[in-house]
This record gives sequence, C-alpha cells and structure tokens, in this order.
Amino acid sequence: MTLMKSWVTSANSADALFPLNNLPYGVFSVGNDEPRCGVAIGDQILDMAALEEAGLIYLDEHRAFDLPFWNDVMELGPAVWSKLRISLQTMLAEGAPHKAAIEPHLVPLADATLHMPFLVAEYTDFYAGRQHAQNMGEILRGSPDLPDNWLHIPIGYNGRASSVVVSGTDIHRPNGQSKPIGADMPIFGPSKRLDIELEMGAIVGTACEHGTVITVEQADAMIFGYVLLNDWSARDIQGWEYQPLGPFQGKAFGTSISPWIVTKAALEPFRTAIPPRETQLLPYLNSTIDGLFDIELEVLIQPAGAGRATVLTKTNYHRMSYSSAEQLCHHASGGCGMSVGDLLGSGTISGPDRSEYGSLMELSWAGRDPFTLDTGETRTFIEDGDTLTLRGAAKGDGYQIGFGTCTGTLLPALKFPD
Ligand code: CA
Repeated sequence: MTLMKSWVTSANSADALFPLNNLPYGVFSVGNDEPRCGVAIGDQILDMAALEEAGLIYLDEHRAFDLPFWNDVMELGPAVWSKLRISLQTMLAEGAPHKAAIEPHLVPLADATLHMPFLVAEYTDFYAGRQHAQNMGEILRGSPDLPDNWLHIPIGYNGRASSVVVSGTDIHRPNGQSKPIGADMPIFGPSKRLDIELEMGAIVGTACEHGTVITVEQADAMIFGYVLLNDWSARDIQGWEYQPLGPFQGKAFGTSISPWIVTKAALEPFRTAIPPRETQLLPYLNSTIDGLFDIELEVLIQPAGAGRATVLTKTNYHRMSYSSAEQLCHHASGGCGMSVGDLLGSGTISGPDRSEYGSLMELSWAGRDPFTLDTGETRTFIEDGDTLTLRGAAKGDGYQIGFGTCTGTLLPALKFPD
C-alpha cells in the first residue's frame, strides 16, 4: 500500500498523521458549538454533521453525525462502515469533482477542541504483554515465571467506563489505602507510586447478545477501531488491594484514550501474526487470524515547566501475545453480552529490553533504579505536574496511519473532606 493522494494537500506528506489512507473518526467542537462527529484529513477536520445537513453524505434515515459520539454509526455494522469509508475516500481523493462542495465543510484541526469520540459502554482491561507479565512477576514475586494460566487465558478484569477520559484531561493523583513495608497498619492518602501503562484500546462496534458465543473470526469482525490507551495505575494502592480479587481503586481514577478512532480498515495493511506460542490455545480460542498490527508506539514525559519532553520508551503493538479478537472471543465465551462501545485495553505493552518497557514500574524496577530525564531530573514514579504522552503510528510506504497523541498531566491529590 502506498500513499493515497487527497486534494487536501496537507494530507499528502509522508509525515502527515492523517492521510487519505487513514481517515480517523473523532468528535470536535469549535468555540461554543455543540460537539459533533468529524473525520481528520491532513491538518483539517471534515465536519460530518455539516456534510450530512448539506445532503452530501447519507448513511441511514436517521441523522448519524450530528451527535457527540460515533456509537450510532458503529451500530449500523461493517457493511455501512465500509460504505462510509469508500464514500469519504472518493470525495476527498485528488482530482475528485466533489472538492468545491466539500471544501466549505473543512475546519482547521488547530481551531478545534476534541472530545471523547464514543460513549464507552463498558471497559475491560487485559494483561496480554508477555514481557510485562514476566517483569511484574520478577518485581512482585521474585520470579519471571508466568502464572500457570497465562499461556492459556487472556487474563483481564472489568474496569470502570466512568474512568475513561479523552486525551488532554488532567488526572488527579488518587487517594487510597496502602500498606508501607514493615508497617502494622495500612494508611490512607495520596498514592506515592503513580504510574502509567502503555496500551492499545480496541473498540467493539457491533454487539453480541447475552447468552451467545462468538468465534475469534467473528470477534475480529466486531471490532470497529483502535485508540492509544494510558491505563494510569497507582502501584502502592494496587499492591495492597489486589489479592485475592484483582485491581480495584488503584486502576479506577483515570484511563486516557487518544481522541481519534483509527479504523480497523485503515490498519488492515499492517496486520501481523501473534508471536509463536509454545502452548497451543484451546480450540475455542485457536484461529489463523493475524490479530495484531504493526504500530510503533512511544511514551514521553515532560515535567512541569520543562522546555522539552524525554522519550521514556519505544515499542510496538506487535509484541503482544493475545489479539483483541482473542480477548473479545474469550470475554464472550461464557455468555457475557458485549455492547457497541465496549472498550478493551490490550494490557501493558513491553518489549524484550528496558528501552521497550511500557510502565515506570518496569523502567525504575519498582523504584529501585531511578532514571534521568533529558532535563537532568530523575524519576522513579510520576511527580505532580508531569505530563505523560503516548504517540503511535503504523508506518507504510511513504505514508503513515497516525493515532495522534494521548496525553495527560498529573495534578495533586484531591483534598478528602475533614
Ligand atoms: Ca492495564
């Protein structure tokens, strides 16, 4: 696949995040306008509500775009997703006769405020990064051995949809319980071990009803698109609370996602196989689908007032050991219904050496090994005022499928009422 050229010329450079090949879906507003659906192209947003109002695009008898979410479009299903993408690529292609009619409905990206691109129905987070699981085992239990179930089950927990926020939303350091080493009693207060987790989020675009099951292939077809996802984590709270039932408050104070849904269709040229497994999955999970994507990822940290950000890590989504389709198949396998707008976190993405670790817990080895930023400051965990940014892109021949950024600044803890 090579660059598809658009009459929106800013979309045609090799470093453009949003070429015609991409066309990610978001929700935007300008000034005091109501948030509505838009599609990114080059340095512009195509105002889909205005396009629909002008009769230039038509999906259904219902208005699908004058809404602050893409869930209604998702619900129409894969045939409509495909039709919409082809329509947009036709209208925006270099030489298209539609230019004069469409051009007035472009809004400069720089003038827009971006909002949550979809309503999160429910949020489930997985633990599918092998290196991450091994690192956490070594840090927490003194052994990199994987738990017995890890090679067989896409391990996950049910998170909170209410905790998912769009990039740019500040995150308060959470208060919570922790138990310092050697202490007799737990304490309550601001987390002292505030961390991030570099993940991808898969968005479920079509539902499966409670009491039905799906194959991995069907699960793959249900996925609408992907976003970058930062699963903010409070390690001290998590460490005290997680046994025997798993993460709770240590993971419930914020999960940031990037504002553009990059469609699965745009990522198709970048599909990659899951790394070889030494143990075959059980039949219901066994498929021949190449369920991962070659997406280059990085994390940056910028202290308050610092003139520059430091790159903390660079890795790739193809490091994962389970695809989102396998995770979705497993999730539904007991009869759990899945909904339009369900969000599945991939699990922390860490590659085989330190330069590819996807959390500060791993980078500082639980605080034992502070690292130095480009500003000269050191870190073990996140300090108040630090801004953390995830970036990602699939790199093609002379073009890229950019995700944009997923950013958030850590603010001090909220004051607990006296
Ligand atoms: Ca996570």
